[in-house]
Amino acid sequence: MIKFHSTNYGTPDVDFKTAVLRGQALDKGLYMLNKIPTLDHRKIFSFKDLSLQEIAFEILIEIIKEQIPEESLKKIIHRALNFEIGLEKIEQYDYLCHLSKGPTCSFKDFGARVLARIMEYFLSLEEKEIIILTATSGDTGGAVAQAMYSMSKIKVIVLYPKEEISDLQRKQMTTLGKNVIAIGINGKFDDCQKIIKTAFADKDLQDYNLSSANSINIGRLLPQLIYYFWSYSRIAQNPNEKVIYSVPSGNFGNLTGGLIASKMELSVDKFISAVNENDEFPKFLSTGIYQPIVPSRNCLSSAMNVGNPSNLARIFDLYGGQIDENGNIQRNPDLEKLRSIITSYSISDKLTKETIVGFYNKYEKIIEPHGAVGWAALQIYRTKNPYQNDIKSITFETADPAKFPDEIISLIKKKPKLPRTLEIIQNKKEYPNPIEINKYEDFKLFVQNKI
Ligand SMILES: *Cc1c(COP(=O)(O)O)cnc(C)c1O
Repeated sequence: MIKFHSTNYGTPDVDFKTAVLRGQALDKGLYMLNKIPTLDHRKIFSFKDLSLQEIAFEILIEIIKEQIPEESLKKIIHRALNFEIGLEKIEQYDYLCHLSKGPTCSFKDFGARVLARIMEYFLSLEEKEIIILTATSGDTGGAVAQAMYSMSKIKVIVLYPKEEISDLQRKQMTTLGKNVIAIGINGKFDDCQKIIKTAFADKDLQDYNLSSANSINIGRLLPQLIYYFWSYSRIAQNPNEKVIYSVPSGNFGNLTGGLIASKMELSVDKFISAVNENDEFPKFLSTGIYQPIVPSRNCLSSAMNVGNPSNLARIFDLYGGQIDENGNIQRNPDLEKLRSIITSYSISDKLTKETIVGFYNKYEKIIEPHGAVGWAALQIYRTKNPYQNDIKSITFETADPAKFPDEIISLIKKKPKLPRTLEIIQNKKEYPNPIEINKYEDFKLFVQNKI
């Protein structure tokens, strides 16, 4: 049975159930696998004959064997991953993988929906209720709120930066009610995240069974391995073929999922970590010096406006390093190894816009700002590595263009088609902001008095 340790190493290892229900370790570290199982290349190649749900089972059972019975895991996956995924060939060797066909039109549906059902399963064994605290830079909140909506043993509190998310993103949280409480903050994503991290460490709130559904929850991270295997298996022509992934990155959960997949022996030639103007990670890769960006920079790809990504702790952990929640390096990771598997580029808003326009003009297809950052980074990589141009690449499109109508219309004078799920939400009534939060104490009192 695989146990989980804290990336801060200040607390005992736990089983999967404890890691999922706690969300974050008590020492403010993130839970990480003690051992990463490996699969044979032939087995991974054979996934080409399996569905997304079947692949999900094959991957997750390797990791959480003996912690959830097989039949229960199958049910969880079946209910959670009940939506489409797409792979589109754009150029001879370049593919776009569409991860935005779930209920909230963001790739976060993968993690949030599987996590919600795993939690529901564990809570049914425990006769216990929990409060999920989540900070969102735009898409997590909606995905988590919708995934957990109406679940009887879970209350969801989402904090979002009022001025930094789109109307549709907000409505995905504020139109639900029931067990979902959405609170807008006059601040940034990092401020939301800080409040939540403080709450987790607050002894006065320990009886509230607080948990997290951010990508700091290992139960949300693991489902993000699945689409790496799925997309690989759709295009690989032999079991040893290697693929390049371009991953739009903010809090680095998506990339961490990919890195774990590669440690499980998925054949990856390179990960391109594509970031917006929050360039702390590419700077770290090139210099070895890590400097969080406070406050984070506002960019078009708003779900990636993160100046101190939580999952860096896991990436360090995977490569022998240790970094705490404040961004202080305790032990350096193997930088050479990191550089051999990851390349990272910062894409300016200007280039993001040019990419959206260029993509439309060239292919008559609409790419949204996050996917555009990934696509732009891939172009840079291709230009710099011409000898690798016949290695296939997969760029993740992490949201649906319809979530960012204003930007898209102003750039290409065309309105993205609204998927049905977003159309319904557009005209629903919003619940008002339940409280003004200016400091942590406001939030704490709200939890103590109102929940
Ligand atoms: C959250 C999000 C990202 C960033 O993903 P991380 O796992 O935080 O790096 C990218 N694009 C969209 C649309 C998102 O919602």
